[in-house]
Amino acid sequence: MSTHEEELKPSPCVQCGYCCSKCACQFGVWDHEARRCEFLTEDKKCALYHKIKDWPEAQMSPAFGAGCSSSLFNEVRMQKVAQIQRENKWEEYELQTAR
Ligand code: SF4
Ligand code: SF4
Repeated sequence: MSTHEEELKPSPCVQCGYCCSKCACQFGVWDHEARRCEFLTEDKKCALYHKIKDWPEAQMSPAFGAGCSSSLFNEVRMQKVAQIQRENKWEEYELQTAR
């Protein structure tokens, strides 16, 4: 991979849940009280993942496996990254850039 390609490579998704607590994707349902998509699980995964992952429409959004587009100044993600580093599990998330 060239340096330019390396620069363009998205940050991995670390399943912090931040984006699904900002707005729901086209498959989600917004829970106004909890202020998150109602399909975001307690461990910050998508409860619909296995149902929607192969839908062509899901390629654009939520784009499982495409990496994170909300990594800048994202405290929630930074905390999850710190946890992954503490637990030495980073390789899992480098390989599996899915939400
Ligand atoms: S790492 Fe990024 S894409 Fe993944 S859940 Fe967090 S904010 Fe969303
Ligand atoms: S990816 Fe799943 S949890 Fe996230 S907004 Fe979409 S349906 Fe909800």
